[in-house]
Amino acid sequence: MLGRRPDQGSFFEADTQYLESVGKESFYGFLAGLRGQLFRDEEFATFYDKQGRGRPSVPPSLLATALLLQTYDRVSDDEAKQRADFDLRWKVALGIPIERHPFAKSTLQLFRAQLVVHDEARKLFQKSLRLAQQQGYVVRNRKLRLALDTTNILGRGAVKDTYNLLADGIVLVLRQLAQVRAVELAEAAGERGLGRYVSARSIKGEAELDWDNAKERARLLREIVADADRLLVEVREVRAILGEDGAQDGALKQAGERLSQVLLQDIERREEGATLREGVAKDRMPSVHDPEMRHGHKSAHKRFDGHKAQIAVDTESQLITAVALLAGNAPDSSGALALVEAAEKNSEAEAAETVADCAFGDGATRQVFADAGRSLVAKVAVTRNRDCFPKTSFRIDLATETCVCPAGKTGVARYSKEHTLRGFRFADETCAACPLRSQCVRGRGGRSIAVHPQEALLQQARALQQSPAFQPYKRARQAVEHRLARLVQLGIRQARYVGRRKTLFQLLMAATVANLTLLAGHAAAGNRQSLLEGAFVLALAALCIASPLPKSPLWPIVGLTHRSSAQARTDQPSPHRFAKTAHSRPHF
Ligand code: SF4
Repeated sequence: MLGRRPDQGSFFEADTQYLESVGKESFYGFLAGLRGQLFRDEEFATFYDKQGRGRPSVPPSLLATALLLQTYDRVSDDEAKQRADFDLRWKVALGIPIERHPFAKSTLQLFRAQLVVHDEARKLFQKSLRLAQQQGYVVRNRKLRLALDTTNILGRGAVKDTYNLLADGIVLVLRQLAQVRAVELAEAAGERGLGRYVSARSIKGEAELDWDNAKERARLLREIVADADRLLVEVREVRAILGEDGAQDGALKQAGERLSQVLLQDIERREEGATLREGVAKDRMPSVHDPEMRHGHKSAHKRFDGHKAQIAVDTESQLITAVALLAGNAPDSSGALALVEAAEKNSEAEAAETVADCAFGDGATRQVFADAGRSLVAKVAVTRNRDCFPKTSFRIDLATETCVCPAGKTGVARYSKEHTLRGFRFADETCAACPLRSQCVRGRGGRSIAVHPQEALLQQARALQQSPAFQPYKRARQAVEHRLARLVQLGIRQARYVGRRKTLFQLLMAATVANLTLLAGHAAAGNRQSLLEGAFVLALAALCIASPLPKSPLWPIVGLTHRSSAQARTDQPSPHRFAKTAHSRPHF
């Protein structure tokens, strides 16, 4: 049954006794102050027995706080358990007595699994935005200016070449076949003459062949492919016996599909036998252990294997307002509008405009935003045409459907069957006689200029980015870069878990902690400001008490002297009293 902890702490809890030692302004102290405010046990009631049977669970609000601490400290489950048991800072943040060991490692893992399965991690993230409203960090119902960006996440699965990828796939299938027959993996492999796949760390490393010899390499590959084919035939036979819908059949089917996927994407069947496919297959799976990983690239030279984190940041408050996890090979702009809508929902505010980099500046994304009546400010990617004039050197007027080239000549408009403008063509003879021809045309004929389906939107964007009005947008976009850097600090460059769903959980937790640390810093700055103001009032009051009352009417603070000293003794709490009242727990 659901375990609950009281909103009010007792004298014996660490946050009552050691908050000052750990630091009220630290993240741990900040979390301690949010007890009963950030997470409430009742909000997780669906994870527990509705009839209230069984022993009370570890309070879920405590486990949720532990997951935040784990993200903040970037520690493993094992280390998280150790810290909850022995680290004073964690005990203060969790609000537990010093001697208490609050949860087992498996309890924390089970709670996290519940959050992932029930898609509840998003609610934890939304809590950080609600808290920002409650604490006055942001104003409710204001207009948002959102900045969007992405960063890469390295996948959890090992990335291997085709030989080892096939070997991994074979081991996956063997493991499932071994489970069906309830035998050890090594035994199942040995029975089929496939022992080398389970005994060797690397099939390539184990194979004693001359890797400079193409024939020997091809022979090894054909042997591996033949083994894989043979296993897949066996999988079909065993599944026919098992019957569908069983757990064993599901796992066997999944293993067989992964092995088949590797064969399909990396192997070409030719007359002379199986060979490696040339080039990289579209949507290639680089790891059988994390089949959702993909080859991605952030630039022409920066490549990675894994996923992409996509985030939206409110440029004014710097809060992360929405996150999404894309496939590693997905365009950055995938689902950009959905991300903006999610940010609006999470923040309970309307987005006035969206700012992004040129990866979001393609015509299709602009059209999606324009159709939704939204403003998207993103640079148009620079067009290049090797050593010749790019398209942007030509003046295209869509209203008059004319195009003027750098030599001042006008092209002839060309239309599609539907009578929409497709482009312009400059006459062969005009270009042949042109002194700029060597800088404009590489072939023999005249120059052609294509008109983009979203040419008008692209022209508007180019005009804006060349004007001084674009400068504020450049600065606004820095907010999202800073928040991505913070997320990388919190460990999102490397996926902790296999699969996109769990990696999204990791991203949501990191975004929640990033927002909360922002609020903690704001609260600490507010406390310091209050203390400074209180100290100033006290100093002024002390000065007034020590000084004789002025007799001269020219005394500059004659009225203030009386009021301040009187207030300091009666109405105004001392800064120490104020601080204690604000942070101390009710008495036991
Ligand atoms: S080559 Fe043709 S299109 Fe290019 S500048 Fe000369 S006239 Fe214009």
